[in-house]
Amino acid sequence: MTQIKTAFIGLGVMGYPMAGHLSAQGHQVCVYNRTAGKAEQWTQDYVGSFGLTPKAAASDANLVFMCVGNDNDVRQVVYGEEGVLAGMQAGDILVDHTTTSADLALELAEACQKVGVAFIDAPVSGGQVGAENGKLTVMCGGSEQAFAKAQGVMQAYSQQVQRMGDNGQGQRCKMVNQICIAGVLQGLSEALLLAEKSGLDIAQVVDTLQHGAAGSWQMVNRLETMAKDEFDFGFAIDWMRKDLGICLDEAKSKDLSLPLTESVDQRYAALQQQGMGRLDTSVLVRSLKA
Ligand code: NAP
Repeated sequence: MTQIKTAFIGLGVMGYPMAGHLSAQGHQVCVYNRTAGKAEQWTQDYVGSFGLTPKAAASDANLVFMCVGNDNDVRQVVYGEEGVLAGMQAGDILVDHTTTSADLALELAEACQKVGVAFIDAPVSGGQVGAENGKLTVMCGGSEQAFAKAQGVMQAYSQQVQRMGDNGQGQRCKMVNQICIAGVLQGLSEALLLAEKSGLDIAQVVDTLQHGAAGSWQMVNRLETMAKDEFDFGFAIDWMRKDLGICLDEAKSKDLSLPLTESVDQRYAALQQQGMGRLDTSVLVRSLKA
């Protein structure tokens, strides 16, 4: 594969291993992380360098990836004298793997266009395990031309990389993904209550049902830990509430009502207030047991 000059901004649970896969594929990688110690640690774990600012990391790259927190976090690493855009040249491509609003994707696309940079909104699904195993699903919004250039590089950490349409459509597809997860987890939580009261063996339930029409990633990866009341891992409620907020805002802008999503979001709000914000989203089941 052709070696590409890349930069990766944001070495969190997701970004750290994703940037590692780029390096393992032989790409040139320069990383940036707000907490510099993590960037330094990354260069000990993988072949690559680190920059002290987003601009410094991006300045020698043709393809810049970001995976930070929310809309404002992305703005903080993109704009300003030390932001990635200040280090990028016309013809380069900026890819955002952060889960954000579609409005932010459109805003960034416009800011990039002014300096001749192509932008792709590219949120991911598959969680920490998917990032570590290089098996993420990536939903992209952007031009066909930019996507064609970036797709092969993103395959370093993905099993599925798909262009969903123009800028914003990647983020809208991720919203659809999060709405599905909210509904599945509510269903699994209710199913677990009945399974336990019925004296069913949960491991056997999973082994059996995963092959039928109710099988799902959440059932295979979460139902048994839900039964054991284990939630100190995975995808945090804090992130899910950000995502469901984005979904509900987008739905409102389209005059849609999403009653199940609203109800699950309220359950998460209550769990957050009880100090469970960093626990995995499957902790939803506790809201039915209280
Ligand atoms: P995380 O572990 O909390 O890491 C967040 C990263 O963003 C850290 O490197 C953090 O730097 C950096 N960051 C946050 N705010 C920043 C700011 N204002 N300026 C500069 N850097 C900033 O989060 P994560 O789990 O990797 O998630 C990252 C994104 O992927 C989120 O949008 C999340 O919704 C999405 N996502 C997560 C998962 C998952 O399972 N975790 C799955 C799919 C999608 P510091 O190290 O300095 O804090």
